[in-house]
Amino acid sequence: MATSRRCWQCDRPLRVTARTDMRYCGTACRAKARRRRLRWKKEFAAEMIATSMAHLQDRVGRRCPSCGVWFAPGVGIRRDARYCSPRCRTAAWRARQHASSAAQPLRQAVTSSRTGDGSGAPTSG
Ligand SMILES: [Zn+2]
Ligand SMILES: [Zn+2]
Repeated sequence: MATSRRCWQCDRPLRVTARTDMRYCGTACRAKARRRRLRWKKEFAAEMIATSMAHLQDRVGRRCPSCGVWFAPGVGIRRDARYCSPRCRTAAWRARQHASSAAQPLRQAVTSSRTGDGSGAPTSG
């Protein structure tokens, strides 16, 4: 395929007279591609930092959204745990229930009839 070479930036076919190592149809496209590459590099770096931060957080621990305490999952606590203790989990669950019932008083009847199994504890979270 002799006509397969295209500009990397605008995807237009390159001139036949173009050098074999030519990637772009012109200087404008080359500059554009360079800017795009720089931006991509920046985004890549940001993503790298975010990923390493997540890894670090996973190792060092995470913050309980209920009481704000830092805790380390894996030491007596499930790795996917969001709260430092069952107490905080229940407190957060209660607060959520309270918020939802305050926002929609009509749903209270449905909730009370559904929590009739006696457990009353969240199954997930
Ligand atoms: Zn081009
Ligand atoms: Zn907590």
